[in-house]
Amino acid sequence: MKNIFKRLLAVTLLIAVLLPAANIARAESGRVAGTGNLKVINAKDGLFISWDKVEGAVSYVVYKYDYANNLFTHEATPEVNYYQDYKTENGAYYIYRIAYVLEDGVRYPYETGVRFRCLKMPRVILNCTPNSIMVSWNKIPTATQYRVYRKAQGESSWLCVRVVRDMNTNYVMDYNVKNGGKYTYTVKAFCGNVPGSYNISGVSTDYWRAPTVTSKHSPSGVVLSWDKYSNKHTYIIDHRSAVSPSWKTVGEVYDKGTYTCSFDNIDFGVINYFRIRLKNTNLVSYSTSVYGIDPNKPMVALTYDDGPLTSVTNSIVSTLKKNGGRATFFVVGNRVGSYKSSLKNAFDAGCEIGNHTYGHYILTNYKQSTIKSQINQTNNAVKKITGKAPTLVRAPGGSINSTVKSSVEYPLIQWNVDTLDWKYRNANSVVSSVKNNVKDGSIILMHDLYKSTADATKTIVPWLKSQGYQMVTVTELMQIRGHDLNAGQVYYSGYKK
Ligand code: ZN
Repeated sequence: MKNIFKRLLAVTLLIAVLLPAANIARAESGRVAGTGNLKVINAKDGLFISWDKVEGAVSYVVYKYDYANNLFTHEATPEVNYYQDYKTENGAYYIYRIAYVLEDGVRYPYETGVRFRCLKMPRVILNCTPNSIMVSWNKIPTATQYRVYRKAQGESSWLCVRVVRDMNTNYVMDYNVKNGGKYTYTVKAFCGNVPGSYNISGVSTDYWRAPTVTSKHSPSGVVLSWDKYSNKHTYIIDHRSAVSPSWKTVGEVYDKGTYTCSFDNIDFGVINYFRIRLKNTNLVSYSTSVYGIDPNKPMVALTYDDGPLTSVTNSIVSTLKKNGGRATFFVVGNRVGSYKSSLKNAFDAGCEIGNHTYGHYILTNYKQSTIKSQINQTNNAVKKITGKAPTLVRAPGGSINSTVKSSVEYPLIQWNVDTLDWKYRNANSVVSSVKNNVKDGSIILMHDLYKSTADATKTIVPWLKSQGYQMVTVTELMQIRGHDLNAGQVYYSGYKK
């Protein structure tokens, strides 16, 4: 008898190994009037069958019922009194029969079990996303409800974090997790009105909230910034672009929230993507992107005010796209609602959207509250359409005084090449104005209200490109040339310092 207990203990231990962190299913145990105490339970990857040891048995024979042919077929001949059947399908029914073999080589019938349904206990899979843990599991055919439980390291009780009643859903996103936390999840499947008829196992992982990365240009490269964790970590910086499409590690920093990617690792003329990984975790941030701009080549910021206007704005954007250029559109807030798609089109083409007040107010005529309201209304209107509020302001008429400077909480962008396109409404005069005055670092003033300006753009943009100019946004120009953009400060150009 001692031997039998030892064997049972071994089986129990084996089950414990097979089902970590899970309550063992309250199995639909298959037991008939036989003497073998035949038991079948759902294990992680199939069915686990066990029976009482028989004194003197040299081996056992496991038969499995073949429903197609209505007979029991030989399944295995284990020397131990248990067997794990991996060849089972979730939701299917199985019947096992056991015989034992004595030294005489004869198979003695032992016990036939009852019909048992295989309901696999799949692994719960955890994935860290930048701001949550995604808990997923294999669907259970008979389940009518899943309940997801969480236990943080050091806590003694399980907390139900979600009840899933849509049986097409087999995952939840748990946002209520802390940086650096270690969590275990258990998913219980409920069948009909029988709560906890069985549950499926949870696993543990370290969870780190991914940093949010931002990027900007600087005279020495692309500066990446992210929220550093209070715990010391190594951060790995990866880069890719259309030129080098797979992620490649470009740097690594320890316990820092910033990294400058030198121009050696930037691909010019295309969008460059960066992401941050936390070393020794599976955590990856969302990527951030910047245009690759060569600091050693000339660059210019084309700016268009007073729009949008569908025919003109779209024509300018299309010319820019054809030539790999981008511009800055200082829009009038009360117009953007009427020209949503033009605004979105410009934004999606990588152009910058700036603020030109809500009603084209000459700000020097107004008091602080009106100025602020003019700026805020426009920022809100733009953000509604592009998702990003402008960070630059151009004062209508370029009219700026001390009240304007102290009221506007954004940099004030003027220009140093004035094409007077609004005055002459003549494409040729705009083209010659640009050709005669443009320099490396120029900010050129035009207006996307006139067909003549759209036509002029069709000549200016390819010409600038042929002269080696990169057509960049105002923010890019200022950042890459090292002009810090400060609220209420006035800027005329992005010349080299
Ligand atoms: Zn204007």
